[in-house]
Amino acid sequence: MMQLLFMDTYGHDLPRTTVEVLPFITGLRGCKKPIPSWFIEVIELLCEHGNPSFDAIKTPPQSFVRYHSLATGDLPSNFIAVGDASLQLNPLHGQGFSKAIINGMGLNSLLHAVTSNSSVTCLSTDFSTRYFKNSCHTMNALWDATRLHDYGSSHCVPMDGETKDIWRFSRWFERKLISAALNYHANISYVTVCFTVPPELGVRLPIPAALLNTALVYTYLPHDDAQSPILALMNVAENMMQLLFMDTYGHDLPRTTVEVLPFITGFRGCKEPIPSWVIEVIELLCEHGNPSFDAIKIPPQSFIRYHSLAIQDLPSNFIAIGDASLQLNPIHGQGFTKAIINGMGLNSLLHAVTSNSGVTCLPRDFSSRYFKNSRRTMNALWDGTRLHDYGSPRCVPMDGETKDIGRFARWFERKLISAAAKDEEVASALWHVRHMFASETVFLAPTVLWKVLSTCSLF
Ligand SMILES: Cc1cc2nc3c(=O)[nH]c(=O)nc-3n(C[C@H](O)[C@H](O)[C@H](O)COP(=O)(O)OP(=O)(O)OC[C@H]3O[C@@H](n4cnc5c(N)ncnc54)[C@H](O)[C@@H]3O)c2cc1C
Repeated sequence: MMQLLFMDTYGHDLPRTTVEVLPFITGLRGCKKPIPSWFIEVIELLCEHGNPSFDAIKTPPQSFVRYHSLATGDLPSNFIAVGDASLQLNPLHGQGFSKAIINGMGLNSLLHAVTSNSSVTCLSTDFSTRYFKNSCHTMNALWDATRLHDYGSSHCVPMDGETKDIWRFSRWFERKLISAALNYHANISYVTVCFTVPPELGVRLPIPAALLNTALVYTYLPHDDAQSPILALMNVAENMMQLLFMDTYGHDLPRTTVEVLPFITGFRGCKEPIPSWVIEVIELLCEHGNPSFDAIKIPPQSFIRYHSLAIQDLPSNFIAIGDASLQLNPIHGQGFTKAIINGMGLNSLLHAVTSNSGVTCLPRDFSSRYFKNSRRTMNALWDGTRLHDYGSPRCVPMDGETKDIGRFARWFERKLISAAAKDEEVASALWHVRHMFASETVFLAPTVLWKVLSTCSLF
Protein backbone atom coordinates (compact mmCIF):
# COMPACT_ATOMS: atom_id res chain seq x y z
CA MET A 1 0.00 0.00 0.00
CA MET A 2 1.27 3.46 -0.85
CA GLN A 3 -0.23 6.81 0.04
CA LEU A 4 -0.04 10.23 -1.56
CA LEU A 5 -0.60 13.08 0.84
CA PHE A 6 -1.50 16.70 0.12
CA MET A 7 -1.43 19.31 2.87
CA ASP A 8 -2.10 22.99 2.35
CA THR A 9 -2.50 26.16 4.37
CA TYR A 10 -3.00 28.61 1.49
CA GLY A 11 -6.55 27.85 0.43
CA HIS A 12 -5.75 25.74 -2.66
CA ASP A 13 -8.42 23.25 -3.67
CA LEU A 14 -6.70 19.92 -3.18
CA PRO A 15 -7.41 17.11 -5.69
CA ARG A 16 -10.47 14.98 -4.94
CA THR A 17 -10.51 12.87 -8.11
CA THR A 18 -7.88 10.97 -10.08
CA VAL A 19 -7.96 13.32 -13.08
CA GLU A 20 -7.12 16.28 -10.87
CA VAL A 21 -3.96 14.75 -9.36
CA LEU A 22 -1.35 15.18 -12.10
CA PRO A 23 -2.38 18.70 -13.24
CA PHE A 24 -2.29 19.76 -9.57
CA ILE A 25 1.18 18.32 -8.95
CA THR A 26 2.72 19.59 -12.16
CA GLY A 27 1.26 23.04 -11.39
CA LEU A 28 3.11 23.28 -8.04
CA ARG A 29 5.46 26.26 -7.97
CA GLY A 30 8.00 27.73 -5.57
CA CYS A 31 10.30 24.79 -4.83
CA LYS A 32 14.04 25.21 -5.36
CA LYS A 33 14.30 21.96 -7.33
CA PRO A 34 11.55 20.77 -9.72
CA ILE A 35 9.67 17.59 -8.78
CA PRO A 36 11.73 14.75 -10.36
CA SER A 37 10.28 13.12 -13.48
CA TRP A 38 10.46 9.63 -11.90
CA PHE A 39 8.11 10.86 -9.18
CA ILE A 40 5.57 12.09 -11.71
CA GLU A 41 5.81 8.75 -13.51
CA VAL A 42 5.23 6.83 -10.24
CA ILE A 43 2.13 8.92 -9.47
CA GLU A 44 0.86 8.46 -13.01
CA LEU A 45 1.19 4.67 -12.76
CA LEU A 46 -0.38 4.59 -9.28
CA CYS A 47 -3.33 6.72 -10.44
CA GLU A 48 -3.86 4.47 -13.44
CA HIS A 49 -3.39 1.03 -11.87
CA GLY A 50 -3.43 1.52 -8.07
CA ASN A 51 -7.20 1.79 -7.57
CA PRO A 52 -6.91 5.23 -5.88
CA SER A 53 -9.33 6.08 -3.08
CA PHE A 54 -9.55 9.68 -1.84
CA ASP A 55 -10.03 10.87 1.70
CA ALA A 56 -10.40 14.55 2.52
CA ILE A 57 -9.66 14.79 6.22
CA LYS A 58 -11.08 17.69 8.17
CA THR A 59 -8.44 18.88 10.60
CA PRO A 60 -10.10 20.41 13.68
CA PRO A 61 -8.80 23.71 15.10
CA GLN A 62 -5.68 23.47 17.27
CA SER A 63 -6.46 23.45 20.97
CA PHE A 64 -4.73 23.22 24.33
CA VAL A 65 -6.67 22.45 27.51
CA ARG A 66 -4.20 23.67 30.13
CA TYR A 67 -5.11 21.26 32.91
CA HIS A 68 -1.82 22.21 34.60
CA SER A 69 -3.30 25.67 35.31
CA LEU A 70 -6.11 24.19 37.46
CA ALA A 71 -5.76 23.92 41.24
CA THR A 72 -5.42 20.48 42.87
CA GLY A 73 -8.97 20.68 44.27
CA ASP A 74 -10.33 21.26 40.74
CA LEU A 75 -8.99 17.97 39.36
CA PRO A 76 -10.21 14.50 40.41
CA SER A 77 -7.11 12.65 41.65
CA ASN A 78 -7.51 9.91 39.00
CA PHE A 79 -8.02 12.31 36.09
CA ILE A 80 -5.48 11.99 33.27
CA ALA A 81 -5.51 13.28 29.69
CA VAL A 82 -2.95 11.83 27.29
CA GLY A 83 -2.06 13.12 23.79
CA ASP A 84 -4.74 14.97 21.81
CA ALA A 85 -7.08 14.83 24.81
CA SER A 86 -5.29 17.88 26.15
CA LEU A 87 -3.14 19.24 23.30
CA GLN A 88 -4.13 19.06 19.65
CA LEU A 89 -1.39 20.38 17.36
CA ASN A 90 -1.28 21.14 13.66
CA PRO A 91 -0.36 17.75 12.09
CA LEU A 92 1.91 19.59 9.63
CA HIS A 93 4.58 19.55 12.34
CA GLY A 94 4.38 15.78 12.86
CA GLN A 95 4.69 15.90 16.63
CA GLY A 96 1.39 14.35 17.70
CA PHE A 97 2.58 10.80 18.33
CA SER A 98 5.78 11.81 20.20
CA LYS A 99 3.66 14.08 22.38
CA ALA A 100 1.27 11.24 23.24
CA ILE A 101 4.22 8.92 23.95
CA ILE A 102 5.87 11.57 26.17
CA ASN A 103 2.59 11.85 28.11
CA GLY A 104 2.46 8.05 28.47
CA MET A 105 6.07 7.97 29.70
CA GLY A 106 5.30 10.77 32.18
CA LEU A 107 2.31 8.85 33.52
CA ASN A 108 4.36 5.66 33.79
CA SER A 109 7.18 7.43 35.73
CA LEU A 110 4.71 9.09 38.07
CA LEU A 111 2.89 5.81 38.75
CA HIS A 112 6.23 4.16 39.54
CA ALA A 113 7.19 7.06 41.80
CA VAL A 114 3.97 7.07 43.80
CA THR A 115 3.80 3.29 44.17
CA SER A 116 7.49 2.85 45.11
CA ASN A 117 6.35 2.98 48.74
CA SER A 118 4.64 -0.40 49.21
CA SER A 119 2.17 0.98 51.80
CA VAL A 120 0.45 3.14 49.15
CA THR A 121 -3.08 1.85 48.53
CA CYS A 122 -4.67 4.68 46.55
CA LEU A 123 -3.74 7.72 44.46
CA SER A 124 -2.89 10.88 46.39
CA THR A 125 -5.24 13.86 45.89
CA ASP A 126 -2.55 15.73 43.92
CA PHE A 127 -1.82 12.84 41.52
CA SER A 128 -3.57 14.46 38.57
CA THR A 129 -2.05 17.90 39.23
CA ARG A 130 1.44 16.40 39.46
CA TYR A 131 0.93 14.56 36.18
CA PHE A 132 -0.07 17.74 34.32
CA LYS A 133 2.52 19.97 36.03
CA ASN A 134 5.36 17.54 35.22
CA SER A 135 4.75 17.86 31.48
CA CYS A 136 3.61 21.48 31.30
CA HIS A 137 7.01 22.82 30.10
CA THR A 138 7.16 20.40 27.21
CA MET A 139 3.48 20.85 26.27
CA ASN A 140 3.75 24.66 26.46
CA ALA A 141 6.88 24.56 24.30
CA LEU A 142 5.10 22.43 21.67
CA TRP A 143 2.02 24.66 21.72
CA ASP A 144 4.03 27.87 21.43
CA ALA A 145 6.47 26.66 18.79
CA THR A 146 3.85 25.17 16.47
CA ARG A 147 1.43 28.08 16.96
CA LEU A 148 4.05 30.72 16.31
CA HIS A 149 5.02 28.96 13.10
CA ASP A 150 1.38 28.70 12.00
CA TYR A 151 0.75 32.43 12.56
CA GLY A 152 3.03 32.99 9.56
CA SER A 153 0.48 31.35 7.27
CA SER A 154 -2.08 33.53 5.49
CA HIS A 155 -5.06 31.25 6.23
CA CYS A 156 -4.37 30.78 9.94
CA VAL A 157 -6.91 32.37 12.32
CA PRO A 158 -5.14 33.31 15.59
CA MET A 159 -6.27 32.64 19.13
CA ASP A 160 -8.76 35.04 20.74
CA GLY A 161 -6.84 38.02 22.14
CA GLU A 162 -3.82 37.51 19.85
CA THR A 163 -2.90 38.83 16.43
CA LYS A 164 -0.69 37.11 13.92
CA ASP A 165 1.85 39.89 14.34
CA ILE A 166 3.04 38.46 17.62
CA TRP A 167 5.92 36.01 17.30
CA ARG A 168 7.23 37.74 14.17
CA PHE A 169 10.70 37.68 15.67
CA SER A 170 10.48 33.92 16.29
CA ARG A 171 9.36 33.21 12.75
CA TRP A 172 12.18 35.32 11.44
CA PHE A 173 14.60 33.42 13.74
CA GLU A 174 13.20 30.09 12.51
CA ARG A 175 13.92 31.14 8.92
CA LYS A 176 17.45 32.17 9.93
CA LEU A 177 17.99 28.76 11.56
CA ILE A 178 16.81 26.95 8.47
CA SER A 179 19.22 29.01 6.36
CA ALA A 180 22.07 28.05 8.73
CA ALA A 181 21.23 24.32 8.73
CA LEU A 182 23.10 21.63 6.80
CA ASN A 183 22.17 17.97 6.64
CA TYR A 184 22.96 14.63 5.03
CA HIS A 185 21.72 11.11 5.70
CA ALA A 186 24.17 8.37 6.68
CA ASN A 187 21.27 5.87 6.49
CA ILE A 188 22.40 3.61 9.28
CA SER A 189 20.38 0.81 10.88
CA TYR A 190 20.79 0.19 14.60
CA VAL A 191 19.43 -2.64 16.73
CA THR A 192 20.20 -3.35 20.38
CA VAL A 193 19.42 -6.56 22.29
CA CYS A 194 19.32 -6.22 26.07
CA PHE A 195 19.98 -9.24 28.29
CA THR A 196 19.36 -9.71 32.00
CA VAL A 197 22.39 -11.42 33.49
CA PRO A 198 21.83 -12.60 37.07
CA PRO A 199 25.04 -13.77 38.88
CA GLU A 200 24.24 -17.46 38.25
CA LEU A 201 24.19 -16.79 34.47
CA GLY A 202 27.19 -14.41 34.68
CA VAL A 203 29.50 -17.17 36.03
CA ARG A 204 28.59 -19.47 33.15
CA LEU A 205 29.62 -16.97 30.45
CA PRO A 206 33.06 -17.89 29.02
CA ILE A 207 34.30 -14.27 28.95
CA PRO A 208 38.12 -14.02 29.38
CA ALA A 209 38.97 -12.76 32.91
CA ALA A 210 40.71 -9.62 31.58
CA LEU A 211 37.48 -8.51 29.86
CA LEU A 212 34.99 -9.35 32.59
CA ASN A 213 34.77 -5.85 34.05
CA THR A 214 35.30 -3.77 30.92
CA ALA A 215 32.42 -1.83 29.38
CA LEU A 216 33.16 -3.02 25.86
CA VAL A 217 33.59 -6.80 26.07
CA TYR A 218 33.96 -7.40 22.33
CA THR A 219 33.70 -5.32 19.14
CA TYR A 220 33.68 -6.45 15.55
CA LEU A 221 34.43 -3.27 13.66
CA PRO A 222 35.17 -4.08 10.02
CA HIS A 223 36.42 -1.39 7.69
CA ASP A 224 33.97 -0.01 5.13
CA ASP A 225 35.39 -2.12 2.29
CA ALA A 226 34.16 -5.27 4.06
CA GLN A 227 30.57 -3.94 3.76
CA SER A 228 29.78 -5.84 6.93
CA PRO A 229 27.69 -4.84 9.95
CA ILE A 230 29.29 -3.73 13.21
CA LEU A 231 28.79 -5.87 16.30
CA ALA A 232 29.48 -4.96 19.94
CA LEU A 233 28.89 -6.81 23.20
CA MET A 234 28.81 -4.56 26.26
CA ASN A 235 28.35 -4.52 30.01
CA VAL A 236 25.84 -1.66 30.33
CA ALA A 237 24.79 -1.92 33.99
CA GLU A 238 24.92 -4.32 36.88
CA ASN A 239 23.33 -7.60 35.75
CA MET A 240 22.69 -6.24 32.28
CA MET A 241 24.50 -6.80 28.98
CA GLN A 242 23.75 -5.44 25.56
CA LEU A 243 24.45 -6.66 22.07
CA LEU A 244 24.55 -3.94 19.47
CA PHE A 245 24.25 -4.22 15.69
CA MET A 246 24.98 -1.26 13.44
CA ASP A 247 24.91 -1.32 9.67
CA THR A 248 25.24 1.04 6.74
CA TYR A 249 24.92 -1.49 3.92
CA GLY A 250 21.23 -2.32 3.97
CA HIS A 251 21.48 -5.70 5.77
CA ASP A 252 18.33 -6.73 7.65
CA LEU A 253 19.46 -6.71 11.27
CA PRO A 254 18.11 -9.41 13.65
CA ARG A 255 14.78 -8.62 15.33
CA THR A 256 14.16 -11.97 17.02
CA THR A 257 16.30 -14.36 19.10
CA VAL A 258 16.45 -17.09 16.46
CA GLU A 259 17.92 -14.66 13.93
CA VAL A 260 20.87 -13.58 16.11
CA LEU A 261 23.34 -16.45 15.81
CA PRO A 262 22.84 -17.24 12.08
CA PHE A 263 23.31 -13.50 11.42
CA ILE A 264 26.54 -13.24 13.40
CA THR A 265 28.11 -16.43 12.10
CA GLY A 266 27.35 -15.23 8.56
CA PHE A 267 29.68 -12.19 8.92
CA ARG A 268 32.37 -12.03 6.24
CA GLY A 269 35.25 -9.73 5.43
CA CYS A 270 37.13 -9.45 8.72
CA LYS A 271 40.74 -10.48 8.88
CA GLU A 272 40.22 -12.43 12.09
CA PRO A 273 37.07 -14.51 12.66
CA ILE A 274 34.83 -13.74 15.64
CA PRO A 275 36.32 -15.75 18.57
CA SER A 276 34.39 -18.85 19.54
CA TRP A 277 33.95 -17.61 23.16
CA VAL A 278 31.96 -14.61 21.84
CA ILE A 279 29.61 -16.91 19.96
CA GLU A 280 29.23 -19.10 23.07
CA VAL A 281 28.47 -16.06 25.29
CA ILE A 282 25.85 -14.79 22.85
CA GLU A 283 24.30 -18.25 22.58
CA LEU A 284 23.95 -18.48 26.40
CA LEU A 285 22.60 -14.93 26.63
CA CYS A 286 20.00 -15.59 23.92
CA GLU A 287 18.88 -18.76 25.68
CA HIS A 288 18.83 -17.61 29.32
CA GLY A 289 19.14 -13.79 29.30
CA ASN A 290 15.53 -12.87 28.47
CA PRO A 291 16.53 -10.87 25.35
CA SER A 292 14.60 -7.72 24.44
CA PHE A 293 15.07 -6.11 21.02
CA ASP A 294 15.06 -2.43 20.17
CA ALA A 295 15.34 -1.17 16.58
CA ILE A 296 16.43 2.46 16.90
CA LYS A 297 15.60 4.98 14.21
CA ILE A 298 18.56 7.28 13.63
CA PRO A 299 17.62 10.70 12.24
CA PRO A 300 19.62 12.36 9.45
CA GLN A 301 22.85 14.09 10.48
CA SER A 302 22.50 17.84 10.83
CA PHE A 303 24.49 20.92 11.72
CA ILE A 304 22.86 24.26 12.49
CA ARG A 305 25.74 26.64 12.02
CA TYR A 306 24.70 29.24 14.59
CA HIS A 307 28.23 30.63 14.32
CA SER A 308 27.40 31.77 10.78
CA LEU A 309 24.63 34.10 12.04
CA ALA A 310 25.40 37.74 12.72
CA ILE A 311 25.46 39.04 16.31
CA GLN A 312 22.18 40.89 15.82
CA ASP A 313 20.50 37.69 14.56
CA LEU A 314 21.10 35.84 17.85
CA PRO A 315 19.34 36.73 21.12
CA SER A 316 22.17 37.43 23.61
CA ASN A 317 21.03 34.61 25.94
CA PHE A 318 20.59 31.98 23.23
CA ILE A 319 22.69 28.80 23.64
CA ALA A 320 22.48 25.41 21.93
CA ILE A 321 24.41 22.50 23.43
CA GLY A 322 25.14 19.05 22.02
CA ASP A 323 22.70 17.60 19.52
CA ALA A 324 20.68 20.82 19.59
CA SER A 325 23.14 22.26 17.09
CA LEU A 326 25.20 19.33 15.80
CA GLN A 327 23.81 15.81 15.38
CA LEU A 328 26.51 13.40 14.25
CA ASN A 329 26.38 9.81 13.04
CA PRO A 330 26.51 7.79 16.31
CA ILE A 331 28.79 5.25 14.62
CA HIS A 332 31.67 7.62 15.45
CA GLY A 333 30.78 7.74 19.16
CA GLN A 334 31.52 11.45 19.59
CA GLY A 335 28.13 12.78 20.64
CA PHE A 336 28.68 12.91 24.40
CA THR A 337 32.18 14.43 24.16
CA LYS A 338 30.80 17.10 21.87
CA ALA A 339 28.01 17.96 24.36
CA ILE A 340 30.55 18.08 27.22
CA ILE A 341 32.91 20.31 25.21
CA ASN A 342 29.99 22.69 24.56
CA GLY A 343 29.22 22.73 28.30
CA MET A 344 32.87 23.48 29.11
CA GLY A 345 32.90 26.27 26.52
CA LEU A 346 29.79 27.83 28.05
CA ASN A 347 31.28 27.57 31.53
CA SER A 348 34.53 29.29 30.47
CA LEU A 349 32.65 32.06 28.68
CA LEU A 350 30.38 32.68 31.69
CA HIS A 351 33.48 32.91 33.91
CA ALA A 352 35.16 35.26 31.42
CA VAL A 353 32.24 37.68 31.12
CA THR A 354 31.51 37.76 34.85
CA SER A 355 35.16 38.13 35.93
CA ASN A 356 34.52 41.86 36.11
CA SER A 357 32.27 42.24 39.16
CA GLY A 358 30.50 45.26 37.61
CA VAL A 359 28.80 43.04 35.02
CA THR A 360 25.06 42.77 35.70
CA CYS A 361 23.75 41.25 32.47
CA LEU A 362 25.00 39.26 29.50
CA PRO A 363 26.82 41.26 26.83
CA ARG A 364 24.94 41.62 23.52
CA ASP A 365 27.44 39.36 21.73
CA PHE A 366 27.35 36.56 24.36
CA SER A 367 25.56 34.03 22.16
CA SER A 368 27.64 34.86 19.12
CA ARG A 369 30.89 34.49 21.12
CA TYR A 370 29.72 31.15 22.51
CA PHE A 371 29.11 29.71 19.04
CA LYS A 372 32.19 31.30 17.45
CA ASN A 373 34.47 29.94 20.21
CA SER A 374 33.55 26.33 19.39
CA ARG A 375 33.18 26.61 15.64
CA ARG A 376 36.58 25.12 14.76
CA THR A 377 35.95 22.01 16.85
CA MET A 378 32.34 21.63 15.66
CA ASN A 379 33.33 22.16 12.00
CA ALA A 380 36.11 19.58 12.37
CA LEU A 381 33.66 17.03 13.84
CA TRP A 382 31.10 17.68 11.11
CA ASP A 383 33.68 17.47 8.31
CA GLY A 384 35.59 14.49 9.73
CA THR A 385 32.52 12.32 10.30
CA ARG A 386 30.66 13.44 7.14
CA LEU A 387 33.61 12.81 4.82
CA HIS A 388 34.05 9.36 6.34
CA ASP A 389 30.33 8.61 5.86
CA TYR A 390 30.45 9.62 2.19
CA GLY A 391 32.50 6.44 1.66
CA SER A 392 29.43 4.35 2.42
CA PRO A 393 27.20 3.33 -0.53
CA ARG A 394 23.85 4.10 1.20
CA CYS A 395 24.84 7.54 2.46
CA VAL A 396 22.90 10.41 0.84
CA PRO A 397 25.16 13.48 0.69
CA MET A 398 24.31 17.03 1.58
CA ASP A 399 22.52 19.19 -0.99
CA GLY A 400 25.10 20.58 -3.38
CA GLU A 401 27.75 17.90 -2.59
CA THR A 402 28.64 14.56 -4.16
CA LYS A 403 30.18 11.60 -2.36
CA ASP A 404 33.41 12.14 -4.32
CA ILE A 405 34.16 14.88 -1.82
CA GLY A 406 36.51 13.58 0.86
CA ARG A 407 38.24 10.89 -1.23
CA PHE A 408 41.62 12.15 -0.10
CA ALA A 409 40.48 12.30 3.54
CA ARG A 410 39.22 8.69 3.34
CA TRP A 411 42.47 7.53 1.73
CA PHE A 412 44.45 9.29 4.46
CA GLU A 413 42.19 7.78 7.17
CA ARG A 414 42.89 4.26 5.87
CA LYS A 415 46.64 4.93 5.89
CA LEU A 416 46.36 6.42 9.38
CA ILE A 417 44.55 3.39 10.80
CA SER A 418 47.07 1.08 9.12
CA ALA A 419 50.01 3.00 10.62
CA ALA A 420 48.30 3.21 14.04
CA ALA A 421 47.98 -0.59 14.08
CA LYS A 422 51.80 -0.82 13.87
CA ASP A 423 53.21 2.26 15.58
CA GLU A 424 52.61 3.65 19.07
CA GLU A 425 53.26 7.30 18.21
CA VAL A 426 50.66 7.26 15.40
CA ALA A 427 48.23 5.26 17.57
CA SER A 428 48.59 7.84 20.34
CA ALA A 429 48.02 10.75 17.91
CA LEU A 430 44.89 9.05 16.56
CA TRP A 431 43.62 8.28 20.09
CA HIS A 432 44.11 11.91 21.18
CA VAL A 433 42.28 13.29 18.12
CA ARG A 434 39.39 10.81 18.34
CA HIS A 435 38.91 11.65 22.03
CA MET A 436 39.12 15.35 21.19
CA PHE A 437 42.19 15.94 23.36
CA ALA A 438 44.14 17.23 20.34
CA SER A 439 43.37 18.77 16.95
CA GLU A 440 44.07 17.02 13.63
CA THR A 441 47.25 19.10 13.23
CA VAL A 442 49.07 16.46 15.31
CA PHE A 443 48.94 14.26 12.19
CA LEU A 444 51.13 16.83 10.48
CA ALA A 445 54.02 16.35 12.93
CA PRO A 446 56.90 15.25 10.63
CA THR A 447 57.49 11.84 12.28
CA VAL A 448 53.77 11.00 12.38
CA LEU A 449 53.15 12.13 8.80
CA TRP A 450 56.18 10.22 7.50
CA LYS A 451 55.07 7.01 9.28
CA VAL A 452 51.51 7.38 7.94
CA LEU A 453 52.60 7.97 4.35
CA SER A 454 55.24 5.25 4.31
CA THR A 455 53.05 2.49 5.82
CA CYS A 456 51.28 0.17 3.38
CA SER A 457 47.52 0.33 3.76
CA LEU A 458 45.93 -2.68 5.43
CA PHE A 459 42.79 -2.13 3.38
C1 LIG B 1 21.49 5.03 18.87
C2 LIG B 1 22.49 6.04 19.32
C3 LIG B 1 23.72 5.62 19.82
C4 LIG B 1 24.64 6.56 20.26
N1 LIG B 1 25.85 6.12 20.72
C5 LIG B 1 26.74 7.03 21.18
C6 LIG B 1 28.00 6.60 21.72
O1 LIG B 1 28.30 5.42 21.79
N2 LIG B 1 28.86 7.56 22.16
C7 LIG B 1 28.56 8.88 22.10
O2 LIG B 1 29.37 9.72 22.52
N3 LIG B 1 27.38 9.32 21.57
C8 LIG B 1 26.47 8.43 21.12
N4 LIG B 1 25.28 8.86 20.60
C9 LIG B 1 25.02 10.31 20.52
C10 LIG B 1 24.59 10.83 21.87
O3 LIG B 1 23.51 10.05 22.37
C11 LIG B 1 24.11 12.27 21.72
O4 LIG B 1 25.05 13.01 21.01
C12 LIG B 1 23.94 12.90 23.09
O5 LIG B 1 22.96 12.18 23.82
C13 LIG B 1 23.52 14.36 22.93
O6 LIG B 1 23.18 14.88 24.19
P1 LIG B 1 22.17 16.10 24.27
O7 LIG B 1 22.06 16.44 25.71
O8 LIG B 1 22.62 17.16 23.33
O9 LIG B 1 20.78 15.59 23.70
P2 LIG B 1 19.83 14.43 24.24
O10 LIG B 1 20.63 13.34 24.89
O11 LIG B 1 18.98 14.07 23.06
O12 LIG B 1 18.99 15.14 25.37
C14 LIG B 1 17.95 16.04 25.07
C15 LIG B 1 16.85 15.83 26.08
O13 LIG B 1 15.88 16.87 25.95
C16 LIG B 1 14.57 16.30 25.99
N5 LIG B 1 13.69 17.21 25.27
C17 LIG B 1 13.58 17.40 23.95
N6 LIG B 1 12.65 18.33 23.68
C18 LIG B 1 12.18 18.74 24.87
C19 LIG B 1 11.20 19.71 25.27
N7 LIG B 1 10.55 20.45 24.36
N8 LIG B 1 10.95 19.87 26.59
C20 LIG B 1 11.63 19.13 27.52
N9 LIG B 1 12.57 18.22 27.19
C21 LIG B 1 12.83 18.03 25.89
C22 LIG B 1 14.72 14.94 25.34
O14 LIG B 1 13.70 14.09 25.76
C23 LIG B 1 16.10 14.52 25.87
O15 LIG B 1 16.01 13.85 27.10
C24 LIG B 1 24.33 7.94 20.18
C25 LIG B 1 23.10 8.36 19.66
C26 LIG B 1 22.19 7.42 19.24
C27 LIG B 1 20.86 7.89 18.68
